[in-house]
Amino acid sequence: MSQEVEERELTRAEKILAAAMVGLLFLGTVEALHLAEVRALRGMTAEERWVWSRVLYYGVSFSIALAAILLAPRLRGFARTFGSVALGYGLLMLIWSVGKFILDCLPEVAAAFAGAAAAGGGLWYLRRSYYTPERVAYSRYMKGVCPFCGKGRIGEHRYCPMCGASVRVECRTCGALVGVLDAYCPACGSPLRE
Ligand SMILES: [Zn+2]
Ligand SMILES: [Zn+2]
Repeated sequence: MSQEVEERELTRAEKILAAAMVGLLFLGTVEALHLAEVRALRGMTAEERWVWSRVLYYGVSFSIALAAILLAPRLRGFARTFGSVALGYGLLMLIWSVGKFILDCLPEVAAAFAGAAAAGGGLWYLRRSYYTPERVAYSRYMKGVCPFCGKGRIGEHRYCPMCGASVRVECRTCGALVGVLDAYCPACGSPLRE
């Protein structure tokens, strides 16, 4: 029971820290871009500035998004959280740089709504990437309910009483009945997953 609470606390802390990382990376990049823009575009005409500020912002944002998309699927296990951070960061940079130029000439109300929509999109994305089927199944399993339907209490059952899914399988080494998501056989200690 206490381990279950700890697990949940850990994922919650993970989420908060991941969101903070995305926010700080985003703010840092925006500030750095602003500094670069001020320096690089000094002495240019309004038209040149129009072009080069877009090249700068789009270039950086697309590079970050592309790097994130290439990097994220390569990260496994614990590092996957950082993959989510990278993706959230890339997405935010893209939305922001596109929004920055489109909203140049719109009233601030539109900017506020677009900001809210972008934040909502970011939240939706983070939720979706954290609530992967794997994580949901594991969290159900830790609560003692069927990882497949989330309703049946597993107890010592071999099949879920609510959906009939097999929740216990035989250990290939010793033949003991083990939980379907167990990593190691509790009877003989041999690993259950490849
Ligand atoms: Zn079930
Ligand atoms: Zn075994």
